[in-house]
Amino acid sequence: MSELRYDLLHDEYILIAPERLHRPLSLQRAAEPPEPALCPFCPGHEDLTPPEIYALRDSKGWHTRVVPNRYKAVQIETPFEAHREGVNERWGGFGAHEIVINTPRHDATLATMSEEEIFDWLYTVRERVADLSRDQRLVQIDCFKNHGLAAGASQPHPHSQILALPVMSKAQKAQFRHAHRYWREHGRSLYEDIIEQESRERTRTLIEGERFFSYCPYASSFAFESVILSRNCANITELNEEALRELAATVGQLFVRLHRELGPFAYNLLFILPPVNRNFENEEFFDELPRLHRFYLRITPRIYTLAGYELMSQSAINPVAPELAAGRLRSDDEPSR
Ligand SMILES: [Zn+2]
Repeated sequence: MSELRYDLLHDEYILIAPERLHRPLSLQRAAEPPEPALCPFCPGHEDLTPPEIYALRDSKGWHTRVVPNRYKAVQIETPFEAHREGVNERWGGFGAHEIVINTPRHDATLATMSEEEIFDWLYTVRERVADLSRDQRLVQIDCFKNHGLAAGASQPHPHSQILALPVMSKAQKAQFRHAHRYWREHGRSLYEDIIEQESRERTRTLIEGERFFSYCPYASSFAFESVILSRNCANITELNEEALRELAATVGQLFVRLHRELGPFAYNLLFILPPVNRNFENEEFFDELPRLHRFYLRITPRIYTLAGYELMSQSAINPVAPELAAGRLRSDDEPSR
């Protein structure tokens, strides 16, 4: 039984989730990734996953599936009740933890998936975020994709995870409070100002689309870190079909370029989403979110290992200047997909 504990020392919430200990670490155990014959996410093995929550299907079969995480950190059936013991506070592990199977193709990567396949995956994520947002008890929805052992992935089949919790993380609170302060002081969203600055300098830009702007951040924490930023939507749920198609094309193009420069590489891909329901942590800025936040994807290649300094300071040492990374990733001749 998992629980959410409040860390009084560092003012953050920690998930204690013993169930996670039992998950199979396929990538770690075997030098060779497991065969599709043994993969629980491959077509034909639907009975190896818990019952489906959502799927995109046509007459030939499914394109994406969403299932509860078998080794979930939290569950929606747990009552959301606080227990206080002196200065300590904990909640039963209430929340949602879902797996999105991005494609039926076991060996696909974001560099080899078609725009249509990437669109189906992003569409599925949008639908799940919209559905979970309707549960007023859930506040923060984290969606992420881990790829490769160095990024924490335990299954090689392309998948992503959605973790929805009744509280915000310390990092998210800090990010939104900062964006709120900036908006109050300048009367503009900091994202608008970043796009304006980057468009002027053009040393870190990657792909400049009508609805999305991608670039390597000025102070990137990771080598080849890349961001795909919506020009005017605060949440993935606001993207219409056209915007989702542009996003799918941008993701595909960027991953082809990353693969060209880095070869096969481990990475985390994070969907930076605003809190979806008001609570005591976000009431000061919740109503302003459409003005002060922009939805973005953050791609952090895990080429170098994080060590003591990074853990202690929560800040990074990045050996590759973002201007150099962007120069390598910006391409005059478009790589073929
Ligand atoms: Zn598979």
